[in-house]
Amino acid sequence: MKVLLVFAHPEPQSLTASLRDVAIAQLEADGHEVLLSDLYAMGWKSEIDRADFPALAPDERLLPVAASRQAYATDTLTADVKAEIDKLISADALILQFPLWWFTMPAILKGWVDRVFAYGFAYGVGEHSDRRWGDRYGEGRMAGKRAMLIVTAGGWREHYGPRGVNGPIDDLLFPINHGILYYPGYDVLPPFVTYSADRFDAARFEAAAEGLRERMRTLETTTPIAYRRQNGGDYEIPTMELREGLGAGMSGFGLHVSEKG
Ligand code: FAD
Repeated sequence: MKVLLVFAHPEPQSLTASLRDVAIAQLEADGHEVLLSDLYAMGWKSEIDRADFPALAPDERLLPVAASRQAYATDTLTADVKAEIDKLISADALILQFPLWWFTMPAILKGWVDRVFAYGFAYGVGEHSDRRWGDRYGEGRMAGKRAMLIVTAGGWREHYGPRGVNGPIDDLLFPINHGILYYPGYDVLPPFVTYSADRFDAARFEAAAEGLRERMRTLETTTPIAYRRQNGGDYEIPTMELREGLGAGMSGFGLHVSEKG
């Protein structure tokens, strides 16, 4: 497989970077090709602004959705964004790796998503009508590809458990796993999360590294999270509400994971 790893940590000697190197070494040992987008090292521009749309006239109002649609359709996105889109198209799998900062990804990675997941490419794909609300949530440009998160978190595992004060980790990562990765069609694998990351030593590092090696060895075979497909019959159209009778006893984000598994 070809694997794109998008990496978001400013320090090359960080724990996150050491785990990245472990992941890449295992993937390459297993014969995979790895493309790396090291966002800080690349000086990635994280904010959407007019400079992203060189074809926009100076006095034209910037409507980010419309500008993204136009730029993607006319191939006038900036070279840095086009290069990332090309990597995404060529890769069979996408890994996003980052430290958990304020319960989500660092701004530089969010900015990568904002700029690279363009209209017509990652969203706004397919028929939008009263009969269909686009090709998304299980369908779309990334259908057939795999994606997963590698995350380090300062908090304890228990803090992110079902009754933990931070909220369940699957809920916290839902906007990324479901809203960013499943949306354009990726099969999303369970995340690899390293807890208590600020208190690491050699023994804990080796245990985490071995767990990560195993996840890399099984990247092609791990069962994806069983998110419900938008156009698979579970949702009313056009309201996109889960049909009566499905998800009994569930609430919140868990409703969108099929009980069939
Ligand atoms: P580093 O700081 O690089 O290292 C952590 C420890 O690992 C250090 O003790 C280091 O010596 C050791 N180490 C590094 N490399 C190795 C190695 N190769 N072998 C052995 N030991 C090693 N946490 C949460 O849980 N939730 C949050 O919402 C949250 N928000 C945050 C917001 C901000 C702005 C910041 C800065 C931190 C936040 N944190 C939060 C904590 C954050 O998640 C952790 O600091 C981070 O995940 C640790 O990863 P790192 O790569 O930065 O570790």
